[in-house]
Amino acid sequence: MIKALEYFVEIIKGSLITCRHFIVNMVFHTLKVLGIKTKRKGAVTIQYPEEKKEIASRHRSLHRLMRREDGKPRCVSCMLCVTVCPSECIAVEATEDPDPEIQKIPAKFNIDMSRCCFCGFCVEACPEDAIRMDTAKIEIAEYARKDLIYGLDKLLG
Ligand code: SF4
Ligand code: SF4
Repeated sequence: MIKALEYFVEIIKGSLITCRHFIVNMVFHTLKVLGIKTKRKGAVTIQYPEEKKEIASRHRSLHRLMRREDGKPRCVSCMLCVTVCPSECIAVEATEDPDPEIQKIPAKFNIDMSRCCFCGFCVEACPEDAIRMDTAKIEIAEYARKDLIYGLDKLLG
């Protein structure tokens, strides 16, 4: 009997905590709807997609390929990113560049975003700082899987 009583006391305590959070969050939400700013940010649900959360500077978002000053891709087709990618979603085909300093540039550079796990290994491995994940783009949904294969046109922006 005492055990059962203790059990119900704990349930009531838990319910009171839930009610407290609900009421406090509701107050903050109502203040926000009325346009009244408060110090507390985390209590309010972000009304996505109308309202978007600021992305942290270190966040790994969609990839982009960097260009040289003359507009060519910085990538030298060394295949390090292809080798290190755990999802095997990068495909690079090299072609010769007339500039002997560069030697190779990518004729094809595809990333299959439907397989990418956004680990950032490709960025870490690149010796040319040719690939970055700092676009702050996180909405990549498409109707067809083939549209998630990003080529040079999309990656070079
Ligand atoms: S972020 Fe990771 S999974 Fe995605 S392409 Fe780069 S290495 Fe591959
Ligand atoms: S690691 Fe860098 S330079 Fe090498 S293929 Fe990948 S993007 Fe190009």
